[in-house]
Amino acid sequence: RRHQFLLPLYSKILKKMKTINSINFKDKKALVRVDFNVPLDENFKVTDATRIEAAKPTIIKILEDGGSVILMTHLGRPKGVDEKFSLKHIIDKVSEIIGVQVKFASDCIGEPAKTAASALENGEILLLENVRFHKEEEAGDVDFAKQLASLGDAYVNDAFGTAHRAHASTTIIAQFFPGAKCFGYLMGKEIEALNTVLNSDRKPVTAIIGGAKVSSKIDVMMNIMEKVDNIIIGGGMAYTFVKAQGGKIGDSIVEDDKMDVALDIIKLAKKTNTRLHFPIDVVAADAFSEEAKTQVCPINEIPDGWMGLDSGPKSNVGFSFVVADSKTILWNGPVGVFEMDKFAKGTIELGNAIADATEEGAFSLVGGGDSVAAVKKFGFEDKVSYVSTGGGAMLEMLEGKTLPGIQAILD
Ligand code: AMP
Repeated sequence: RRHQFLLPLYSKILKKMKTINSINFKDKKALVRVDFNVPLDENFKVTDATRIEAAKPTIIKILEDGGSVILMTHLGRPKGVDEKFSLKHIIDKVSEIIGVQVKFASDCIGEPAKTAASALENGEILLLENVRFHKEEEAGDVDFAKQLASLGDAYVNDAFGTAHRAHASTTIIAQFFPGAKCFGYLMGKEIEALNTVLNSDRKPVTAIIGGAKVSSKIDVMMNIMEKVDNIIIGGGMAYTFVKAQGGKIGDSIVEDDKMDVALDIIKLAKKTNTRLHFPIDVVAADAFSEEAKTQVCPINEIPDGWMGLDSGPKSNVGFSFVVADSKTILWNGPVGVFEMDKFAKGTIELGNAIADATEEGAFSLVGGGDSVAAVKKFGFEDKVSYVSTGGGAMLEMLEGKTLPGIQAILD
């Protein structure tokens, strides 16, 4: 099966990885694909600059080498040219964070880009207009990629958040830079963090897989099974496993067509000696609402008309024990409907346990899908070892896929 031969992937990537330190950018124009897809408020002010901060070390390294930087990114999902998604809105923020006044080209290809790029001097930064103003970007058009490539002498990919897309500026462009392409620091950190978790000899290794649906996490569980000692299966997806084993789950969220897969996962875990931990009790509610009536009941005895929306007190203690004993931790997905205070306790207690274990020396990685939202909401960001910047990209890495943006640099 697929997961069996994909496992050594991350260490292989790391070994072949051409890092940014291997290139001296003196007198070079580096085309850097970043992920500056930042949220803007109604006045087009950047409300969260995490992604800009994350690319700073790469930009600074190139400037300090004595080169110049041409930044390529997308913003939002424009259909053609759309002022709302213009990157001119972020010029000031990028300038402020990097500490250099950023120049701007009103189109990422054609005359505006060519003129600005050729006038660029060492130590300067040019930001190109939104690459998604051209439909050729997402189509992975080779000619469009070639036009982008003609602007610089080297290509650096530091856009982990879009590395799972085979777009022109994230993947296709790399072929035009044989011998002059590499990953930026952020990309390197993401791959390293994942490798630390999935090729760790610091055991026990524990993965917490939560979230709403089994279907979105099947490949992740299959792929990591042999690499981890424990998997805590929480959140909405747990109910499919419980029902498949004959439990009563009331009106809890369930995917009936995934019950077979759930049983397969349980079988595979036995074969690989992976301990699966399910909630034993849950906070059940009579409605999907903050105002709902609640009761704590065993996960396999939820009355009709009630749905499990959070892990219960016994489960939380059990999960905390497993986490406290772990030396390596992967956290993917909340164990309850954390968006509502009433059902956030399980996720908070789990976060606390992970924070404590990290303080005791464990390595903890949070990422994949929406996990990061819970971590940010409850302030665990600084208490874990690494928070991934790419939801979809990290999820695909966890599934054992080689991301096109990563492959393109390795080729
Ligand atoms: P994911 O994007 O797959 O990580 O899923 C995250 C979502 O799962 C969050 O929005 C949670 O509200 C939701 N979730 C967690 N536990 C449950 C549950 N017991 N029932 C329904 N949704 C849940």
